[in-house]
Amino acid sequence: TEAIRPLIAGNWKMNGLKSALGEFEAMIAGAGALAGKADLLVCPPATLIAGFADKALGSKLAVGAQDCHARASGAHTGDLSAEMLADAGASAIIVGHSERRADHGETDAIVRQKAEAAWRAGLVAIVCIGETQKQRDAGQTLDICGRQLAGSLPDGATAANLVVAYEPVWAIGTGLTPTPKDVEQVHRFIRGVLTDRFKAEGGKIRILYGGSVKPSNAAELMAVTDVNGALVGGASLKATDFLAIAEAC
Ligand code: PEP
Repeated sequence: TEAIRPLIAGNWKMNGLKSALGEFEAMIAGAGALAGKADLLVCPPATLIAGFADKALGSKLAVGAQDCHARASGAHTGDLSAEMLADAGASAIIVGHSERRADHGETDAIVRQKAEAAWRAGLVAIVCIGETQKQRDAGQTLDICGRQLAGSLPDGATAANLVVAYEPVWAIGTGLTPTPKDVEQVHRFIRGVLTDRFKAEGGKIRILYGGSVKPSNAAELMAVTDVNGALVGGASLKATDFLAIAEAC
């Protein structure tokens, strides 16, 4: 199999004001030197997408969104469509993050519609899956991930339009991470699901690990078979940490 180019994606969640532009500019400044190693993407809150995307124009740092509505437009107060996010300068959208599944009741069917919306707008869908601590303790990790993949991934996925992020819910923001062996087992399983369903293309789709990735553990996690990059929450807010994680892959 040919080498897959890694992606390091930052998820700022509900953090960041206009005053964070300096931090983002520091990321742009560091991104050029890392272009030989990985693709870099930052997903700030929606309020910052247009401003960041303007600054990042012509650089090696891409800007993405954290969610979208499934519809292109209409009577959906407070929501943003994939088309709007594309218009603001986003090139990718995270869909199905566990915080949205938990806080907003997003089901696999909704996540699938949002991934299709991202594609409709010409954007990459980063589809998140992952088990809770309770599910892990019950030995259901692969069952849960398999069910989420089956329900959340639309037909027609390619290496260019889809990224899958494996994010064990218990590892998000906790400082806890699975062992490299555990990560490898799940990523291998995901790879199998992708190749079963999308054939040769499924062998090239990037599978990110997410959950408490930081500079100190990034090299170990990024070295795992079938780990093609990271989705980074807390550590993506600081340019030095985010760039150090990219450096480690
Ligand atoms: C995330 O929520 O996508 C995430 C990986 O968070 P953290 O890195 O802070 O655990």
